[in-house]
Amino acid sequence: MIAAPANLSDQDGASPSVADSALVDAVRPSPNYGKRRGSHAGVRPSLVVLHYTGMPAGRGLSAAERAIRWLTDPRSEVSSHYVVDEDGGIVQLVPEGQRAWHAGLGAWRGEPDINSASIGIEIVNPGHFWNMSAAPDLKSGEAVEVHPGYQPFPDVQIAAVARLVADIVARNGMAPESVLAHSDIAPARKSDPGEKFPWARLADQGLGLWIEPAPIEGDAGLQPGTEGQPISALQSMLALFGFDLAVTGVYDAATEAVVTAFQRHWRPEKVDGRADRSTTATLVRLLRAAEDARRRLAS
Ligand SMILES: [Zn+2]
Repeated sequence: MIAAPANLSDQDGASPSVADSALVDAVRPSPNYGKRRGSHAGVRPSLVVLHYTGMPAGRGLSAAERAIRWLTDPRSEVSSHYVVDEDGGIVQLVPEGQRAWHAGLGAWRGEPDINSASIGIEIVNPGHFWNMSAAPDLKSGEAVEVHPGYQPFPDVQIAAVARLVADIVARNGMAPESVLAHSDIAPARKSDPGEKFPWARLADQGLGLWIEPAPIEGDAGLQPGTEGQPISALQSMLALFGFDLAVTGVYDAATEAVVTAFQRHWRPEKVDGRADRSTTATLVRLLRAAEDARRRLAS
C-alpha cells in the first residue's frame, strides 16, 4: 500500500492513498476520518497537534507497526494524519483535507472542535504508561507485557517531526506558533507527547511558541486545594493563554491538570501541578510572546 509521495492533493478531493507532503515515505490509509465540520468545512486547518503513540513494540511488531495497525483498524475509531517512526520515517494515514480522529474531547482558545481545526501527528514512543492488561490487541491467555517506560525521543525522529511540521505550516499558511501538545487541549485526560518532547528543538526552527523557562526558585508555589484572588489570577492567565479552564478562584483538580499540562510543555524540568514562581513567570512571558506573535501576524 505504499504510494509515491506527491505534492498535489487538493483539500477536498484528496485520495486517501496519495501523500500530501513530499516528505511522506509511505501511505497506509485509515478509514477513521470524516469531513471537517462547521466553520472548518473546506477551510485549511490552523493547528498542528502533537501526540505520542503510547504503545510499545511487542507481539512481534515494531512500536510503529503496532500503532499504525491500531490507527487504521476501523474498530479503534482513532487515527491521525501522520505517524513519525523512531527512525524518522513518515507515514500518512489520513489526507490533510479530512478530519482525522486524533484529539477527542478538548478545546484551545475557545475552539471546541480541535479535530476539525487541526492536523494530528502521532510520534512513536511507548509513552508514560499503557495498561498492558487492557491492550486492545492482547489475546486471551497471552502473557501481559511489561511496559518499558517513557523513552527519550531520538534526534532523527525529532528532526523528521520538525521537517514535517515546517512543511505542514508552510503549505497550509498556518501561523508558525500554532503547534500544540495533545495535553494542552485535553489536560485532564492526556499527557502526550510529554515532558521529554524537546519543544526547544522545534523552536530553533521557528516552530511553536517557546521561550526559555524562568529558573526554578524552590518556592512551594500555589497549591491544590487553596483559594483566593491569586488563584483567580492564575486561572485567568491560563485561560487567556488558551487552556479550557474556568476561573473559579479555587485550585481544583481541573486547575492542577492545566498547570501540569502547562509544565509538561513549557516548564518541563519540574512537572508537579504546583504553580511556583518559575511556572507563573514563564506563563507571563509566554502571554507576552503570544501577543507579539499575534501582532506580527496582523501587521
Ligand atoms: Zn494523543
